[in-house]
Amino acid sequence: MPPTERKDFETTKKLREVMGNYFADLGRGAAEGKKTAWCTSVGPAELLWALGFNVYFPENHAAMLGASRMATDLIPLANARGFSPDICSYLTSDVGAYLKGESPLQKMKLSGPPKPDVLVFNTNQCRDVKDWFQFYAREFGVPCLGVHTPRSIGAIDEALVGYVGGQIESLVSPLEAVAGQKLDPARLREVIGISKQTTTLWKAVLATAANVPSPLSFFDCTVQMGPAVVMRGLKEAVEYYKLLLAELNARVAAGVGSVEGERLRIYWEGMPIWGKLSSLGGQFLQLKTCVVASTYCNSWIFEDLDPADPFLSMAKAYSSIFICRGDDRKEAYMERMVGQFKVDGILYHDAKTCPNNSNNRYGLAQRMQKKLGKPYLVINGDLNDLRLYSEEQTRTNIEAFVEQLSQG
Ligand code: SF4
Repeated sequence: MPPTERKDFETTKKLREVMGNYFADLGRGAAEGKKTAWCTSVGPAELLWALGFNVYFPENHAAMLGASRMATDLIPLANARGFSPDICSYLTSDVGAYLKGESPLQKMKLSGPPKPDVLVFNTNQCRDVKDWFQFYAREFGVPCLGVHTPRSIGAIDEALVGYVGGQIESLVSPLEAVAGQKLDPARLREVIGISKQTTTLWKAVLATAANVPSPLSFFDCTVQMGPAVVMRGLKEAVEYYKLLLAELNARVAAGVGSVEGERLRIYWEGMPIWGKLSSLGGQFLQLKTCVVASTYCNSWIFEDLDPADPFLSMAKAYSSIFICRGDDRKEAYMERMVGQFKVDGILYHDAKTCPNNSNNRYGLAQRMQKKLGKPYLVINGDLNDLRLYSEEQTRTNIEAFVEQLSQG
């Protein structure tokens, strides 16, 4: 019987320490006189670190609510406050957690998320983040600032980069007022340099999955991505990914795969189902099928960051992400990924409360199949609301899909 538990990495112990220190810093921030900025996951975090803020990411907190399976019970509290059950379940579970005073951070000896002094969003991913942050701005009586990035972007041209870059730059003055200090341009360049190093290493980590067998899977990556999301701009993230990359390279050299006896390779398109990572990961292990790559984990690669041109390069990097591009760009991206990672089939997760990350809804899956001749499967579920997910049905569908692939 194949194993149902993933082989862990040696470096995961270090990961716990690094992430633990990050959260401990957040918890001590106010007592140490530090200001806290809340930032969306693909917001201008570098600017916030450079201004001396502690930076906290509510989406990371929401993912923790999902992974700890606290989310589903908390969502109705936000629904009662007027947030529809149909909108982002990161938003509704996070707001529910706030209303109930519960948080997975309490297990880390924090009282909960640190109070914000300012909230900064970027609509490159969706409108929900703005509504989410505006709720807290009203609750805490603090400013909510943001960048409005267009969606369904084709070419990243000068006009777009100038438009978004100008908005990021115009955040400086109101943020300085909250931070109580002036922006040091040299410090901003330094933070962007560190962020670029983090992102380059994270890309190299993910790229090791192009090997056969793959030394890591999507399920490993949803854990390992923590520093790339919340600590880009901090040296600790760079140091961590150097260690992880060394361990992955050693796995590759020794021919060790994340999935023992890997037979098939799948691309995961869409959000993780946070509360079901371990059972899904276990099922793929049993099926000797590795989910080798995903749009989601690759979304924290910001190759365009350039310390020599902070604002325009941030604009370019944060407007180039998959989620805010048009379908033609998405198709070209996925075609490259399917080739690079030697993928046998594509799994689309249609997440009920995140249309922004559910890319099967406008015929993309069919077009990709026609173009690449690779089978695909759509599973219906959600990132955090497990009432929208049928475990039995999904398991059966995945089994049938893998069977189909193995005959291909
Ligand atoms: S992209 Fe989706 S999951 Fe993320 S905040 Fe927006 S609606 Fe929620």
